[in-house]
Amino acid sequence: MRPEVLNDLFAEVQSLEGVGPKLKKPLDRLGLTRLRDVIYHLPMRFVQRRSVSDVDQAVEGEQIVVALTPTEHRSPFSGRGPYRVLAQDNAGNLIALTFFGKASYTAKKTLPVGEKRWVAGKLERYGDMLQIVHPDHVATDSAGLVGHLVEPVYALAEGLTQPRILSMAEQALVKAPELAEWIEPSVLAQQKWPAWRDALHLAHRGENEPARDRLAYDELFANALALTLVRQSNRKRRGQALAGDGRFRDRLQLPFPLTGAQRRSIAEIAGDMAQDAPMLRLLQGDVGAGKTVVALEAMLLAVEGGAQAALLAPTEILARQHYETLRRMLAPTGVEIALLTGRDKGRPREATLMGLLDGSIPLVVGTHAIFQDAVQYRNLGLVVIDEQHRFGVGQRLLLTQKGRVTPHTLAMTATPIPRTLVLAQYGEMDVSRLDEMPPGRQPIDTRVVSAQRLADVVAGVERHVASGQQAYWVCPMVRDHESEDIAAAEQRYASLKDRFGDRVVLVHGQLAPELKDAAMERFASGAASLLVATTVIEVGVDVPNATLMVIEQAERFGLAQLHQLRGRVGRGSEKSTCLLLRGEELSETGRERLALMRETQDGFLLAEEDLRLRGGGELLGTRQSGESAFNVATLEQAARLGQMANDDARMLVDADADLASPRGQAARVLLYLMERDYGVSLLRGG
Ligand code: ADP
Ligand code: MG
Repeated sequence: MRPEVLNDLFAEVQSLEGVGPKLKKPLDRLGLTRLRDVIYHLPMRFVQRRSVSDVDQAVEGEQIVVALTPTEHRSPFSGRGPYRVLAQDNAGNLIALTFFGKASYTAKKTLPVGEKRWVAGKLERYGDMLQIVHPDHVATDSAGLVGHLVEPVYALAEGLTQPRILSMAEQALVKAPELAEWIEPSVLAQQKWPAWRDALHLAHRGENEPARDRLAYDELFANALALTLVRQSNRKRRGQALAGDGRFRDRLQLPFPLTGAQRRSIAEIAGDMAQDAPMLRLLQGDVGAGKTVVALEAMLLAVEGGAQAALLAPTEILARQHYETLRRMLAPTGVEIALLTGRDKGRPREATLMGLLDGSIPLVVGTHAIFQDAVQYRNLGLVVIDEQHRFGVGQRLLLTQKGRVTPHTLAMTATPIPRTLVLAQYGEMDVSRLDEMPPGRQPIDTRVVSAQRLADVVAGVERHVASGQQAYWVCPMVRDHESEDIAAAEQRYASLKDRFGDRVVLVHGQLAPELKDAAMERFASGAASLLVATTVIEVGVDVPNATLMVIEQAERFGLAQLHQLRGRVGRGSEKSTCLLLRGEELSETGRERLALMRETQDGFLLAEEDLRLRGGGELLGTRQSGESAFNVATLEQAARLGQMANDDARMLVDADADLASPRGQAARVLLYLMERDYGVSLLRGG
């Protein structure tokens, strides 16, 4: 049960003033459903503004507050493009206030022609005019704005504004209670970190590294603690030593020899499984590295040892895919495998349950349905967990801690993460790495091209498509406003549509799911040749005929992200190409990043370099997308503080295995606060 002291923080955001049903959608998109989420929605950065009497006093790129009088409202001509309000400052300069998407509705109301308004935002050049895109504030008098010259900038979604989210944060912070300290006192003193509640306030008010670090550490510590609890319980449990005689594995007829990395991983797994203590091992390998065969060998080893094995997939679709692949590979061995998902009902389901119970079915693949109470195994010896997301592996590990004898566990992930992050994300699991790709992969020809050569690139895409192949075109997230990114993608789509007609489709995060599916479907079936997308969406399709990828403003992406995007091509037998379009002003780091992308396709190397090249500060300004295991901690913080969090967690559990001491109790509160409470059930009095 969640401690009462946290009740206020787990109240719905709708309980805050000014949060009505209209905001539900954008808040959901940001993952902000409870007050707890709002207090941890930390500012991306802070702006420092200057109040000026007219724009002649300001420079381009500066954040200002200025009094303006609107003179004219201009709707976009063609329905696309921005909505503009022209306005004059005190010196008579003309300035455009520019709005994309639905933001124009607010502009119509808040900027009436002929009435003076104080406007805060970033001054930019637009052609031969000055403009402010999506002003952060529009006020009827100067008082409110001039007092707020340092201001947080939060990540937004369409329909939300900075003032709205700031007000939500302020209200939520008031509800944050004083909590007993869970960090080891010596760590706290040595790091000079503020107390939890103070850290939250500080982190929302201004740049404050100790406060940010403390909050990141809390998350890392909670994660480490939950994993340590699982690990502790695992150690106390009895497993079974499984030794294989090779009688099934010898009959596999693989059409290829195993790579060295595969053989090494299999040997490591076999070594663990031959022990009484339950295995807890992570198998890491990029997409296409050949994890399935390794899993298959481990599963057959379990069967040879007289036990059963189960493979847990994250989704129904992936479960089916695995089932088909494994069934084909298993054919020459005569070993049977069953599929079990939430969708299976009636007789076939009964038959599967029966077979698992009496042991006549040795192998099963499925979704979490394979661990429901109704499902019983005669002797489950190995669980393979494919692809961990979000809450990581701990929660899944818990599923296996039920039976009389604990099965061996192999977790598999396709995200290459740096060694320093493995510890923070997975705790003290043993790790096997598939760091060698199967032979015969065509390298993806990666080139860095100046954005000035856009016309050439489009012509290249045209030739590519004319030859019957397909292509992806990825538009980046460039601004704080998602709507502007989408406007940019729509603009690109519109201009490509002039060339490609209905052979181009657009996919982004705000499309209705039916439209998105329809567009994906057209592309996957080959009806469309070119898919334009923002990165907000996961381009989760496997289209072997798509052999060209264009990434606009590639310097804005992290290396790990570029690597994942590039992995969408190079899946067929044809040679693939990736064009990284770069802007004119390229930082030294940006240059280095793109050069690395050109030079290597090694996901592990790119992940390490990604971490090295990210300055601590750079992350704040970059929206993190993709699958980070952490919400508060940046990758850089996880790498820097993860070891300490793990040590701290282990020491606490060693001294107080049931988290019963005052500090242990405080740590329990933290586990609930950070939603890592899955391990609490393993504790006495949990
Ligand atoms: P992932 O690690 O992404 O799960 P898979 O197991 O699906 O990768 O393997 C990707 C492809 O590579 C499959 O078609 C598989 O048959 C093939 N493959 C796996 N191991 C080897 C190998 N040693 N040599 C050649 N091809 C291999
Ligand atoms: Mg796989």
